[in-house]
Amino acid sequence: MNTAGTCSQPSPISGLGLFATHPFAAGERIAAYSGPLTDVPPTTRDGSTPVYALEVSPGLWLDGSPADNPARHANHSCQPNAELIWHGPTEGAWLTASHPIAKGMEITFDYGFSLAESLFQPCRCGSPECAGRIIAAPLRPALRRHLRFSRPRD
Ligand SMILES: [Zn+2]
Repeated sequence: MNTAGTCSQPSPISGLGLFATHPFAAGERIAAYSGPLTDVPPTTRDGSTPVYALEVSPGLWLDGSPADNPARHANHSCQPNAELIWHGPTEGAWLTASHPIAKGMEITFDYGFSLAESLFQPCRCGSPECAGRIIAAPLRPALRRHLRFSRPRD
């Protein structure tokens, strides 16, 4: 497993982040995102989705929380430079560069959370496109409508 190209260090987005220690070309695999698979959506004690649990294909979740998952510190961004690609149970999920990534850049991807999940997960990615919550890109217009209608009027 190639983990030589990344390291974990404090991130301006949240906690520890995953950073490139050498450049990656678009389309290049960065690190495996490994952990147990489950067909039951994982939940935390308060009923929200744990941040490391990702739906890698419809109805299949990967729990990326084990300490030996080399990519577990990769943060969500609303303008990510990588994507998580599911290659099936044998190869697993791989963080793959979606844009050229320079040495030293933080590696981010779209956690793909649902609207309900996003309400528990504020996003501080700092990108101009930030939706304010961790939510799958296609759902961001729905989130913006939801927040507009639920905001108290003055
Ligand atoms: Zn964001």
